[in-house]
Amino acid sequence: MDCLFCKIIAGDIPSAKVYEDELVYAFRDINPQAPTHILVIPKAHIDSVNGITCDNSAVVAHIFEVIPQIAAAEGLEKGYRVVSNCGQDAGQTVFHLHFHILGGKELSLEMA
Ligand code: 5GP
Ligand code: ZN
Repeated sequence: MDCLFCKIIAGDIPSAKVYEDELVYAFRDINPQAPTHILVIPKAHIDSVNGITCDNSAVVAHIFEVIPQIAAAEGLEKGYRVVSNCGQDAGQTVFHLHFHILGGKELSLEMA
């Protein structure tokens, strides 16, 4: 499949890994919008939030168990934002489900 994030998971494209387990991969965004900007993705390809079903949603619960661990490891005790852009109007550019973790500064009401 011609998917950028599947290639990152496979190691075909390098990335700055911050966390990995059997279900999830997390790495630093190449174009950070905040001092800490991490992407958390399921290893199994899902296009977007619209692709979450009862058959694959367990990984989303797992992602939200992992996110606080990553935030703690990154020192984001003052808070952080979790964002998932879904589709054209939201500006989704990579169609492999991902959750942005943004923090390390007081965030505006824009995405970052
Ligand atoms: P979206 O706009 O789809 O919500 O988020 C996609 C994110 O992926 C963007 O924040 C963009 O900077 C990031 N991104 C795109 N290509 C790469 C890449 O090759 N490596 C990394 N680490 N991040 C990428
Ligand atoms: Zn993919």
